[in-house]
Amino acid sequence: MILYQLSCDDEHTFEAWFRDSGAYDEQAKNGHVECPYCGSTKVAKAPMAPRIVSGVSDRAAEPTSSSDGEWDINKMDQNRAQEVAQKILDAVGNIREYAEKNLENVGDEFAEEALKIHHGETQERGIYGRASEDEARELEKEGVQFVRLPGTPRRNG
Ligand SMILES: [Zn+2]
Repeated sequence: MILYQLSCDDEHTFEAWFRDSGAYDEQAKNGHVECPYCGSTKVAKAPMAPRIVSGVSDRAAEPTSSSDGEWDINKMDQNRAQEVAQKILDAVGNIREYAEKNLENVGDEFAEEALKIHHGETQERGIYGRASEDEARELEKEGVQFVRLPGTPRRNG
C-alpha cells in the first residue's frame, strides 16, 4: 500500500492509497484518479509527497534520492519507521472515522454495491463495508475507485 499526496490541475491537494506505484500510474493514466473536491482527473503527485512503500523495493540498491521527495521504509531507521507507522495508523483511523460518520455502511455487500454505483445501476453515494481479496481484485479490474483500510475490525451483525 502506498499513500500518495496528489494535486489536481486546480491545485487541490488530497491523499489516496494505491496498491503500488504501478496501480497509481495505471489509474491516473486511465483517468480513474479523481480530485475529491472538483472531480478533475488531471491529477499529479504533489511536490514533496512522501511515498510509503512496505515490503521489498526493487530499487533498494539505489542510493536514496531526496530530490524527488520520495523515500521508502526500508531505508529509514527504526524510530523513523515507527513514527511513520504510527502516522499511517492515525491516518487510517481518521479515514475510518470519516467513513463511519459520512458514508453508508453496506457491510458485506460492499463489492456488489460499489459495482452497481460504478455502473450507474443505483444511486451514487459514498459507501463503506467489507470486501474479500477476490472482490477487491474484481473492483480494481472494473476500475472502481475505493480505498482499502488495513486491519478493519470485524463487526458483529
Ligand atoms: Zn480539484
